[in-house]
Amino acid sequence: MNSAARDRIRTEIQALSAYHVPEVGEVVKLDAMENPYPWPDESLRADWLKTLATVTANRYPDPRAQDLRARLRAHLALEDDQRLLLGNGSDELIQLITLAVARPGAKILVPEPTFVMYRMIATFCGVECIGVPLQRDFELHLDAMEAAIAEHDPAVIWLAWPNNPTGNLWPREAVHRILRSAGGLVVIDEAYQPFAGDSFVGELGRWDNLVVLRTLSKLGLAGLRLGALAGPADWLDQIDKLRLPYNVNVLTQASAAFALDHFERLEEQAAIIRAERDRLQASLGQLAGITAYPSAANFILLHVPRGRARPIFDGLLDEGILIKCLDGSHSRLADCLRITIGTPEENARLEQALEAQLQPG
Ligand SMILES: *Cc1c(COP(=O)(O)O)cnc(C)c1O
Repeated sequence: MNSAARDRIRTEIQALSAYHVPEVGEVVKLDAMENPYPWPDESLRADWLKTLATVTANRYPDPRAQDLRARLRAHLALEDDQRLLLGNGSDELIQLITLAVARPGAKILVPEPTFVMYRMIATFCGVECIGVPLQRDFELHLDAMEAAIAEHDPAVIWLAWPNNPTGNLWPREAVHRILRSAGGLVVIDEAYQPFAGDSFVGELGRWDNLVVLRTLSKLGLAGLRLGALAGPADWLDQIDKLRLPYNVNVLTQASAAFALDHFERLEEQAAIIRAERDRLQASLGQLAGITAYPSAANFILLHVPRGRARPIFDGLLDEGILIKCLDGSHSRLADCLRITIGTPEENARLEQALEAQLQPG
C-alpha cells in the first residue's frame, strides 16, 4: 500500500480482512443458507418476466417503494403505528442502524458466537462491539448479558432469532428480560423466521425499544437483496434519514411484489426444507463422533471429532460439496462445521460423503 493510502485510510479498516466469499466452480452449495430451489419456478417464470417487462428502467425507482411496502405491511400484519423500512438486503439495514447510533463512545452488544456482520459493521462505523459469550449449550448467558448492559449501556443489542450459526431459538422469556434491561434499541433479527415458525412481530408496539428485522434472502430470494425493518417511528423515522434515496432498485421492487403475490410457493419450499432439516438432524446425529445441534433455521451446526473440522471440510470440497468451516472463527466453534439444508438429493450426497470422511483410515 502506498503511503498516501496508508496515512489516510482509518487504521481499524486497514486491520480488517475483507469479507471472504469463496470462489468455487460447480459444487453442491451448502455454505450460505440459500434456498436450493430456483425461483420463480418453471410455471411462474413467464408471469414474472411479464411483470418485469412493465418496469421503467430509465426512471429512478419509487424512493419510498410505496407499493411493495404496503404489501409487506399487510403480509406482516403491521399495526398502523409501526413503521417499515426497506433495505438492500438486511445487511444494509444493519449498517443504517449502526450509523444512526455511531456517536463517539457508542457501543453495541452481541451474544457470541452470532452473525458476524453486527461486529464487522460496528467496526466500519467506528462503534465498539461488546461480545458476551453464549453458554456451553448456546443459550443466552442472561446474567452476563445484564451485567454487560449495566456496564456498557449499549446503543443497540443484536439478537439473531434463531441465531446464526448455532441455529437455536432463545426462549421468549430470555429475550423479554433483555428488552426490559436494555436502555437502547433491541433488534430481533428474524432472517430465519420462515424455518422457525415464531416471531416477535406480534410484540411490536408492546415495547418502545423493540424492532424486528426480516429478509427475503433465506426464504429463496437472496439474489434480489431485500431486507425489511419494522418498528416504532421514534427509531425508524431517524434511521430512515440515513437511507440512500433509491436503495431498492426497480427490478427488486417489482420482483418482490410478485413474490408476495405467490408467497405460498415459497412457503411450500420452506416446509420441504424444514422437514429435510429435521430428518438430517436426526440422521447426522447418529454418525459416530458427530453432534448435530437442534436447529430452528435452514442450517445445522455440527460438532465433529477434535481436529477434524478442516480435513472434513476439505474432503467434502474434493467431493464437490461446499459447506462452511467455523473452526477458528470463535472459541465456542472449535471443531464445528455448518451445513445449509439443500434438496433431498443434495442432502443425501452430503450424508454419504460425510460418513465416508468419518471412516477410520
Ligand atoms: C444471512 C443473514 C442476514 C443477511 O441477510 P441479507 O438480507 O441477505 O443481507 C441477516 N441476519 C442474519 C442473522 C443472517 O444470517
